[in-house]
Amino acid sequence: MSDATTMKAAVVHQLGAPLSVESLEVPVPGPGQALVENLATGVCHTDLHAARGDWPVPPKADLVPGHEGVGRVVAVGEGVTTLAVGDLVGNAWLWSACGVCEFCRKGMETLCPNAQYGGYTINGSFGEYMLVDEKFAARIPQGADPVEVAPVLCAGVTVYKGLKQAEVRPGEWVVISGIGGLGHVAVQYAVAMGMRVVAVDVANDKLELAARFGAEVLVNVTEGDPVAKVVEATGGGAHGVLVTAVHPSAFGQAIGMTRRAGTAVFVGLPPGDFPAAIFDIVLRGITVRGSLVGTRQDLEEALDFYARGLIHPTVTEDRIENINEIFERLEAGKVDGRIVVTY
Ligand code: NAD
Ligand code: ZN
Ligand code: ZN
Repeated sequence: MSDATTMKAAVVHQLGAPLSVESLEVPVPGPGQALVENLATGVCHTDLHAARGDWPVPPKADLVPGHEGVGRVVAVGEGVTTLAVGDLVGNAWLWSACGVCEFCRKGMETLCPNAQYGGYTINGSFGEYMLVDEKFAARIPQGADPVEVAPVLCAGVTVYKGLKQAEVRPGEWVVISGIGGLGHVAVQYAVAMGMRVVAVDVANDKLELAARFGAEVLVNVTEGDPVAKVVEATGGGAHGVLVTAVHPSAFGQAIGMTRRAGTAVFVGLPPGDFPAAIFDIVLRGITVRGSLVGTRQDLEEALDFYARGLIHPTVTEDRIENINEIFERLEAGKVDGRIVVTY
């Protein structure tokens, strides 16, 4: 049990304004919850969208963002039986779901209309302490490096689930569009799943990172016609396309990059929309699908890939005091892999 009553945290007081790093009261775990002393948290582009107010549904007031937090349980609330002080756990975007709605009952808990989102509808891991729900906290595998494993909690599970939804078989082509925090682990999951990878980005250093993880074809969208390049390299388009890019133009291009009967999976969430060629989608029988993080089971599987040494997020450590500068680097596309804040 920790005796601290205050903690350092980065807070969004006003959407679009810089975050304020300040002292907050350490939260008290309610029934079914645990208090976690954080060791590390990844900084996802979603945290930037949240702080900017980029999406139609705004986050909670005075938000502490962060949904890739890893830490140790230091106290448990009433009735908690499956977590104990000392356990290494994480939070996630799917902070909790109701368990009783149609979507929860059908095993689609990420679509629960009553879900809480970590670092969006409830405070997250951009503070020295956070709360988790005992039923939804990620169990971090034995021997994991808290810094390296943090990005698996959102980036990892999101792309792992997205790749499953792309329905690409071993030996078939997948395009990973956007080689940032999500995309650089997507390349690794895809290779581990036996897929052949085309990496697409606006920056050559990102493409080089993808090549190091096994991408066979590299396409810089700022040079020439990226769709034609993918279609040619894959002999007619990729069987699946996973879009993690933070620009709407990548979404229309993804449809053009998809092979007949293939699937384009959208996980990137830049504000805005894009024009789509209806004829292309219909005549080529393409499936276009949105995918939101993953269920607890997906997360367990995504963590297991990490535990077996099949994926290694590229991480740079930083401090929470620098959060506004970290966001600037993320927005400018100047982050290799993921920045992970350590406490
Ligand atoms: P990031 O900033 O680390 O990476 C984004 C990448 O997109 C960068 O490498 C950038 O160079 C690249 N890019 C920019 N414009 C491009 C273009 N036109 N074509 C191809 N690539 C382009 O961001 P991230 O943390 O990886 O998050 C990516 C997106 O995914 C964000 O919008 C985030 O909110 C979203 N996200 C969604 C889910 C989900 O469950 N659906 C989960 C996590 C993150
Ligand atoms: Zn995220
Ligand atoms: Zn539900």
